[in-house]
Amino acid sequence: MSEFSINNVGVKVGLEIHQQLATNKKLFCNCVPTDTEEYSLKFQRKLRAAKSELGEYDPAALFEKSKSKSILYYANPESSCLVEQDEEPPHELDDDAKRIALIIASALKSEIFSEIYPMRKTVVDGSNTTGFQRTMLISQGGSYEVEGTTIGIQSICLEEDAAKNLGDEGIIRKFGLERLGIPLVEIATDPFEVEPQHIKKIALALGRILRSTKKVKRGLGSIRQDVNVSIKEGGVVIEVKGVQQLDQLEKVVEYEAKRQQGLLEISKELQKRDWIHDKEKDRKDITELFSKCKSKIIQNAIKKEHKIFGISFRNMEGMFGFSPYEGIRLGKEIAELVRFFGIGGVFHSDELPNYGVEKIDIENLKEFLKIKKEDAFLILAATDKKIHIVIEQIISRIEFIKKNGIPIDTRLATVNGETKFLRPRPGAARMYPETDIPPIIVSKKELESAKENIPKSWDESILELQTKYKINLQLAEQIFDSRYIELFENIIGKIKTNPTFVASILCSTITNLERKGLDSDLLKNEDIFKLFELLEKGEIVKESIEIIFENIMSKKSKSIEEAMKNASIESINEEDLDKIIKDIVDKNQEIIKNQKERAMGPLMGIVMKELRGKASGEIINKLLSKNIKEKLENN
Ligand SMILES: [Zn+2]
Repeated sequence: MSEFSINNVGVKVGLEIHQQLATNKKLFCNCVPTDTEEYSLKFQRKLRAAKSELGEYDPAALFEKSKSKSILYYANPESSCLVEQDEEPPHELDDDAKRIALIIASALKSEIFSEIYPMRKTVVDGSNTTGFQRTMLISQGGSYEVEGTTIGIQSICLEEDAAKNLGDEGIIRKFGLERLGIPLVEIATDPFEVEPQHIKKIALALGRILRSTKKVKRGLGSIRQDVNVSIKEGGVVIEVKGVQQLDQLEKVVEYEAKRQQGLLEISKELQKRDWIHDKEKDRKDITELFSKCKSKIIQNAIKKEHKIFGISFRNMEGMFGFSPYEGIRLGKEIAELVRFFGIGGVFHSDELPNYGVEKIDIENLKEFLKIKKEDAFLILAATDKKIHIVIEQIISRIEFIKKNGIPIDTRLATVNGETKFLRPRPGAARMYPETDIPPIIVSKKELESAKENIPKSWDESILELQTKYKINLQLAEQIFDSRYIELFENIIGKIKTNPTFVASILCSTITNLERKGLDSDLLKNEDIFKLFELLEKGEIVKESIEIIFENIMSKKSKSIEEAMKNASIESINEEDLDKIIKDIVDKNQEIIKNQKERAMGPLMGIVMKELRGKASGEIINKLLSKNIKEKLENN
């Protein structure tokens, strides 16, 4: 195994940012894009045919179809209508979405087309009820600056967001329609050569240009980034989808570059081996042979009446476990591919005996398949219907790696910063014209208006926040990058309060609770606003805010009122407060006697236990110290 160094492989990166726009309706209908958990409507569809209107077959579609899923859609009439259900043609393009897209294109100095042609892009995973996504190429070219480096823009599209994946249940995949049709801007950068640690800055700068328009959605899922990775010798660009956090970009790019370089090494090694797969001789049903195998996976498969197959690979000894770099192996590539078909696992000869597969099983298998010392083998379990499809896929993937190096996949970023097989990359047959919508004209007036509305730069916006609200740089950046900037300005505009205090509640307090695993999506902007109102009226104290947030974000309460009741938050007047504290002081005379003034510390703990959230810390502090003093004087 050799040490991998990303600086030696000539890595190139391209970003593809998908940003939801903050419009009041969807792209091609009047539905309001709101999140929902209630679905009064449910309907089922089979996956659409893989053939596009031009009559060509799409490899990704065929591949997806071989998984034979049924799709179940969940809908709420408030956030979806007959358009999303594909029972009614699309309405006119939403003007607001068009306007915002033109502003973004202008801000990125991209050349806007005077006529825009809506297209259909084949979608094969069921995330669109129609089987395609509507997309419009708005502009081409352009650039933006990041710390003195110019990043080129390839294209900007305005398109519909897909339905929300609600998870799989057996062969049924579930989607919610509330997100389907929300306007989305897709921005693709030119590929750039970069040291991995700078990628985050480049993505962040693009996100900030978008947020400067104040017309884009904030929060979880409102911005998604894909990253295209290639290496100099590889010759292919691999698209990695679903990078959740910018912090992940560096790791994902490094892993993907390492994987690609590793595949080239694996390819070289494969070329040295004299291997050809023989359909008749090299794959055999071993269900009977393995009926007594102690592996749980094998036994579970037999219980489900799956077939167990052994596949021999002549002259491939050591190939599946061969690891040019840490974590990169042919065996791993095969395992990912197999998992895509919903098959739990595949055993290869380099990892056995293990997982309950014993030496005796292997000896039996070797005899049955006539496997020699210089050969390798795989053991695979799947339904009768699936098993040959999967074996074909495995064989053709290994053949491809041997002959060409890196297979052209679409991949998915994992939480630990690796990438895994998602599906083969769709072919060019994927796009065809949308015949339900006429071409869209961009007038001179619209172009001029977009140019006039190019937002201030991020730096200017931050400076403005700092001077207008007298908050420090760090807080200004935090609040501007957060999803609460509009709420912040709204609160300061309408309620007499301290901007620094509001900003730090919206940034630090909520972020800290998120870090504890609580869900800030449960916290509605109206509720936050109301809390600052209650605070201003003196009906709650500062300290209560975090308690109420915690209550709502942990699902203990649905509203402020409920949270206040649950946490027994009430504002106690100073007179009653004094009585309670005096009472506690009386009960703990011993501590005061022993520790004199230093009793403040331990007593504060006792008092706060009882009064947390019911009075401000300052008043409690004042009254406690007064009561201790009195006690000391009287004794
Ligand atoms: Zn609708």
